[in-house]
Amino acid sequence: MKFLNLIERKRDGGFLDPEEIGNFVAGVVAGELPREQVSAFLMAILFRGLSDEERRHLTLSMRDSGETLSWAPDSNRPVVDKHSTGGVGDKVSLPLAPLLACLGFRVPMISGRGLGITGGTLDKLESIPGFSTRLERDRIVELVETTGLAMAGQTARMVPADRILYALRDVTGTVPSRDLITASILSKKLAEGLDALVLDVKFGAAAFMRRIPDAEALATALTQIARGCGVNTRAVLTQMDTPLGRAAGNWLEVRESVDCLGGAGPADLRELVLLFAGSLLEQTARSASLKEGIRLASTVLDSGAPLAKWESMIAAQGGDLEAYHRLLLGDSAARVVVEVTSGSSGFVNRCDAREIGEVVRALGAGRLSPQDEVLAGVGVDRIAKPGDPVGAGDVLARIHASEVAHAEEARRRLITAITVSDCPPEMTPLVRA
Ligand code: URA
Repeated sequence: MKFLNLIERKRDGGFLDPEEIGNFVAGVVAGELPREQVSAFLMAILFRGLSDEERRHLTLSMRDSGETLSWAPDSNRPVVDKHSTGGVGDKVSLPLAPLLACLGFRVPMISGRGLGITGGTLDKLESIPGFSTRLERDRIVELVETTGLAMAGQTARMVPADRILYALRDVTGTVPSRDLITASILSKKLAEGLDALVLDVKFGAAAFMRRIPDAEALATALTQIARGCGVNTRAVLTQMDTPLGRAAGNWLEVRESVDCLGGAGPADLRELVLLFAGSLLEQTARSASLKEGIRLASTVLDSGAPLAKWESMIAAQGGDLEAYHRLLLGDSAARVVVEVTSGSSGFVNRCDAREIGEVVRALGAGRLSPQDEVLAGVGVDRIAKPGDPVGAGDVLARIHASEVAHAEEARRRLITAITVSDCPPEMTPLVRA
């Protein structure tokens, strides 16, 4: 009866006090609140919104709903992380984490799985034979303290409130609430016990927030709360109309990340990796300016040390380095490889990240529901990007599929997702603000 009063109050545009929010979160975790009432409450929040105070209390109550990470005091080795609101081909975390560890940071990179057209860092890492992302809290802490990084999923006991609420939001149409997204993302990041955080808030065709003002509002909500909790936080708005890099799909993205760690790979991927590393260096006062931070990050990336760190992380987390190197030497980890070629010469003028994300998911690299299994080797690479000059017959994309029929369907869709015109398109910057 009491909870019904809260639902009705939020439905009518009223406010909840910290104790009421805390009791709600505790009731969710204890399984004491009926799912239909929790669902109705989430929908009321979606329509009515939360005040700054309510949003902050919801985030903190969710953070404290389970175990959190804590660190040995060491001001020389700040604890940092990056979070992206997600997109297609967004593999930045993979090269960034070992780079940050080589820059002297401690990096407990707790990541998620792909859902919808957004890929997930855990699925990408698990395409490395033997690699385990299921680590207990003590093991995460030990790896981070000794080697500088761990890349893992949330432990079973971390932020249980988000696990329960996210699953409900997923089936009740309540995912796209700025307040609920803010609480969900930050409850998990704040549970990592960070000193500094950089947020990649995407906008565009394949982003959660398609419009720039919505992405800006989300960035503001996220930074306000995280800063209020003592975490030095910065948000960067980046474009997600076009996939990041030239590959989308779990193993294909690992391979492209390894190129980046080797000092090569696509320019846009390298740009974001260096920008986030440079930003964290500046945020933690280890560089005097962003420019100096980027320069230092670039030197360290090109030194080869982050690539060696990446391989030692693979070994530390159970990966089979021999099998991984064999895969790297091969051309594809999929059964069927098909090229999509251009029928005319000119310039690529459109490369639709949303459509490519849907193709990659349909090939089996992503999920329609959280229980779905993903395929490691499938996806799309050699993606031609806006502004690229192409000749008739040149490759616009290469499809890696498990079956010929899937590849044919993907080819049919990619022909309209990547288009060529006579003149180069007007280019928009990758980093907006
Ligand atoms: N990512 C999250 O972790 N939670 C959301 O609600 C949306 C994106």
